[in-house]
Amino acid sequence: MHYHIILTKECNLNCSYCGGGSDTPPKEIQYKISDLKSFLSKDKAPVVEFYGGEPLLRIETMKNIMDTIPGRFVIQTNGIFLDKIESEYLKKFNSILVSIDGSKEVTDFNRSNGVYDKIIRNIKLIRERGFCGDLVARMTVPQGTDIYANVRHLAGIEEFGHVHWQIGFEMFWESGLDDDKELEEWIQSYNSGISSLVEWWVREMELTGCVPGIVPFIGVMRSLLSGKQSRLRCGSGIDFFSVMPDGRISACPVSIDFDFSIIGSILNNDPHSLCNKACVGEPCISCDIFNICGGRCLFVNRSQDMLRRNGYEQICLTVRHLVHELEEVVPHVRELIRSGIISANEFEYPEFNNGCEIIP
Ligand code: SF4
Ligand code: SF4
Repeated sequence: MHYHIILTKECNLNCSYCGGGSDTPPKEIQYKISDLKSFLSKDKAPVVEFYGGEPLLRIETMKNIMDTIPGRFVIQTNGIFLDKIESEYLKKFNSILVSIDGSKEVTDFNRSNGVYDKIIRNIKLIRERGFCGDLVARMTVPQGTDIYANVRHLAGIEEFGHVHWQIGFEMFWESGLDDDKELEEWIQSYNSGISSLVEWWVREMELTGCVPGIVPFIGVMRSLLSGKQSRLRCGSGIDFFSVMPDGRISACPVSIDFDFSIIGSILNNDPHSLCNKACVGEPCISCDIFNICGGRCLFVNRSQDMLRRNGYEQICLTVRHLVHELEEVVPHVRELIRSGIISANEFEYPEFNNGCEIIP
């Protein structure tokens, strides 16, 4: 199973849509690494994902865990301190997810001046130092983002193997209420950008014989091709848990301050006893595309009272559109596989849950 380990709640950036994450104490790890080891030893194949705040602010703790606990390692970082990881540890990572929102202009606007250039320098450096795992550009998409231009930009950076994105929560919260009409207009333009991206994605397959690493498209297409049903794709509360600094376990790494999300503790629970303790409810389970979407996000599903009027419907418009556009190109993709232009194996991603939620 997959475990986010929150190494600290502190962050060195103050991104416009985040503001530094959870402020509730404790901010730093209170449990012993031996307690974490003992908890994870009951899982035969743990995937450990370092998370924060910014996990690389506690690089010594991270290295200590990597030295102590056998498992596969992933990190989700803002990329600023990637140059501080020695080659020996870089090579132990299966995947590195770097938060970057698109072009220099967009990334620096959201994250601070100079962040984009620092990330680009650091991802080149970690490749030179021998990191040959999966490097994922992980975008947050606030209202107003040109999704087509920014995904294309990141997909063109050779160091990144994959691009993934998540639509920002804040535009759907009641507290962030701006003009309803502006949100509706942006969703229309986002959906139109998704249509253009799908068109480009399939054209690239034809031209190059490779499937561009667009994570939401690959994950959904994999299900459409195989016919396999999917549960909540991020896995929160199913096979994906977050260890908070005080040792309590949250179903999701973002909703750590919400009661519904707290399902146990590394001191009192075995990993397998946590499965299915927090699940999505209506309107998802009656939804006609539940088996493809999986419910998108446990946090939003369980916090519907915090959403703006029609907030859930607005989010679902984006999911429905993405699934519809991919369904439309299934015959074309099947034909490309049948004629040997692309391999069906290219859709076998991710190999294991690597922290990409698949549904944006
Ligand atoms: S499309 Fe919306 S209602 Fe349907 S499963 Fe996904 S999140 Fe739930
Ligand atoms: S998609 Fe939602 S439930 Fe899943 S990890 Fe992200 S915030 Fe948590």
